[in-house]
Amino acid sequence: MKIYCATTNAGKIREFRQALEPDFDLEMLPGLDRLAAPEETGDTFEENAAQKAVYYARGVSGLVFAEDSGLSVDALGGAPGIRSARFSGLDATDERNNRLLIERMKGVAHRSARYICVVALARDGNVIETFRGEVEGEILHEPRGKNGFGYDPLFYYPPFGCTFGEASAAQKLSVSHRSRALARLRTALARL
Ligand code: IMP
Repeated sequence: MKIYCATTNAGKIREFRQALEPDFDLEMLPGLDRLAAPEETGDTFEENAAQKAVYYARGVSGLVFAEDSGLSVDALGGAPGIRSARFSGLDATDERNNRLLIERMKGVAHRSARYICVVALARDGNVIETFRGEVEGEILHEPRGKNGFGYDPLFYYPPFGCTFGEASAAQKLSVSHRSRALARLRTALARL
């Protein structure tokens, strides 16, 4: 079954491929790089994922999925949350975001956090369903490891005894918020 994926984030694409291929024929949405990014005006991951999926599904016939994801840190009241990609501003990079997170967590004892991923599946401009996945961890004081992307070097996963930045791609995929959301997507696709 062919399904179009609407993201330009290389880290996410890698994980989508690992989770869905070869059972599904995953294709990048044609012309995605020429399209203006959709507005993300929602207050939740669900709203933003749905907005992206609807926006991208208008231009193609067939199934399209988009996702919205981020890191929710308890001591920061859920921040960076839906603003994870732009935590450090408009010129944010993974490195700047991580530096800001370290700064904001200085002296904070309670370091629990979770990654959240919501995948929205759409067809003909309508959302069919959204799928949520989460994984719990802790924010370290210093980055560890070069694998993954985003906040992975600061995201310590107790069952592995290491960060997602130190875990292998296969290890991360076995437990990640993204793979948990994608597992729900797979179940739904099998029903279509
Ligand atoms: P989005 O592209 O608006 O959904 O923003 C997602 C942002 O959340 C990314 O740019 C990362 O900063 C963060 N994020 C989401 N998933 C992960 C992950 O698996 N590892 C590390 N950071 C992530």
